[in-house]
Amino acid sequence: MSKFIFITGGVVSSLGKGLGAAALAAILQSRGYTIRLRKLDPYLNIDPGTMSPFQHGEVYVTDDGTETDLDLGHYERFTGVASRRTDNITTGKIYSSVLSKERQGDYLGATVQVIPHIIDEIKAFIVSDTDDADFVICEIGGTVGDIESLPFLEAIRQLRNDLGHENTLFMHVTLLPYIAAAGEIKTKPTQHSVKELLSVGIQPDILLCRSERPIPEDARYKLGLFCNVKPTRVIEANDLSTVYEAPIVYHQNGLDKAVCDYFKLEAKAPDLSAWQHILDRIHNPEGEVTIAIVGKYVQLLDAYKSLRESLVHAGIANKVKVTLNWVDSENLDLLERSLTGVHGILVPGGFGERGAEGKIQAIRFAREENIPYFGICFGMQLAVIEACRSLLGIKDASTTEFGKPCTPVVGLITEWLDADNLSKRQASQNLGGTMRLGSYSCLLAENSKAKSIYQSATIQERHRHRYEVNMTYAKALEGAGLYMVGVSPDNALPEVVERRDHPWFVAVQFHPELKSKPFDPHPLFVSFIKAAIIQERLI
Ligand code: GLN
Repeated sequence: MSKFIFITGGVVSSLGKGLGAAALAAILQSRGYTIRLRKLDPYLNIDPGTMSPFQHGEVYVTDDGTETDLDLGHYERFTGVASRRTDNITTGKIYSSVLSKERQGDYLGATVQVIPHIIDEIKAFIVSDTDDADFVICEIGGTVGDIESLPFLEAIRQLRNDLGHENTLFMHVTLLPYIAAAGEIKTKPTQHSVKELLSVGIQPDILLCRSERPIPEDARYKLGLFCNVKPTRVIEANDLSTVYEAPIVYHQNGLDKAVCDYFKLEAKAPDLSAWQHILDRIHNPEGEVTIAIVGKYVQLLDAYKSLRESLVHAGIANKVKVTLNWVDSENLDLLERSLTGVHGILVPGGFGERGAEGKIQAIRFAREENIPYFGICFGMQLAVIEACRSLLGIKDASTTEFGKPCTPVVGLITEWLDADNLSKRQASQNLGGTMRLGSYSCLLAENSKAKSIYQSATIQERHRHRYEVNMTYAKALEGAGLYMVGVSPDNALPEVVERRDHPWFVAVQFHPELKSKPFDPHPLFVSFIKAAIIQERLI
């Protein structure tokens, strides 16, 4: 049976619970254990798919086509274990499931209530589809004391009784603020937060304490005393120079030992050499390249979380530091100045007309100035529009997404092959659920740059988009030097375009950034950064 580790957060949000969960999972893996990671989100949306990136950051998409919280991206990047539908639960999903059961009469006339029905549903989700992993690590979103997280806390409290102390561990992530005037680290907010947890029947077993400074022995003792936690289970978590330091530092600070001791496991020592190698590369780059990312959400870097990480991974692979220049695509006046001198230009995924003209101009600049260009999703659609407008003379070439009369070189396609089945979507469908989501196959052409980069003729990549490039322009675009070298297996949907008259110009309809890992960097990002290094030497 799996051991369940429940992670709650206290004092303030944004403490890095997700990172803590991911790093703990990575260390346990390196001790030879199997893991599953999941996130319980207290918000009422069914999933984050319809939320603005400004509010919620990136929407992470799994192979099975679920739109999830960006913490699942951390989980995959740290462990290599692919997340799936059952790994992200929201209050919305729970209620939706309970309400549909109620309509079907499954509750046999009972009054449907939070306790037991909602809580039972949460518990059933938590213990389902675990693959019998040695550890199931569940992060509870939000901060203890929030009204919304109460049902989740009640569910894990009950699970401790259902599954037994020996199979469940509560880890609480908190903050120990440093008060400069007193010259001291303060434990009081953590004491209060643990009190709050105790009031709902949860006694934490481990405290993971975020702190700017080392935690002095007396503070550790005090925390142990007031929070009923052994001082050896008060684990320090200082600020890190990079998130990839977390497995090594948390191990040094005793996190995995505390977990193994709690469960009375005689685990083999962890082998963290792969993480050490990653750190050495990050801390000792042999060069530096600058990449401009032209987007609309540049003020909120969490909106491009996986993208940023993928570029870090490609830097690690190429032994260079990748500096990112965030360029606001709405600021047309500054655009060209911001792009001059960069070693690569990237237009990431995006939605809506606002800022699109700036992105098109950036693509044109990259094409004309022979600067390596990487287009992702919207960045591919706009690359096709740019080629149609500038090279084929189709002045009103555009996408139907903008809702204006145009020559629709990008449009809504309402059918596509999902594995072997035909999936359909209707233009009038709800916003949630009208996208092509999740992993689809793509065939790469012989002699294409993409095929030589992937070293494979068939690839699987994750998608998240409503619109598709119109295949009927393939021949004309070839005449303009833009080749559709990747297509869906039924030859209906373009997946990859590239130029042959340019040092590096590749654009893809999918999101390769969702599959890159520090120890397994994505080949497209690695190749793009390699091209940027060549560009850097040229200037
Ligand atoms: N807005 C485009 C579409 O829906 C691109 C989406 C994206 O870049 N993820 O097709």
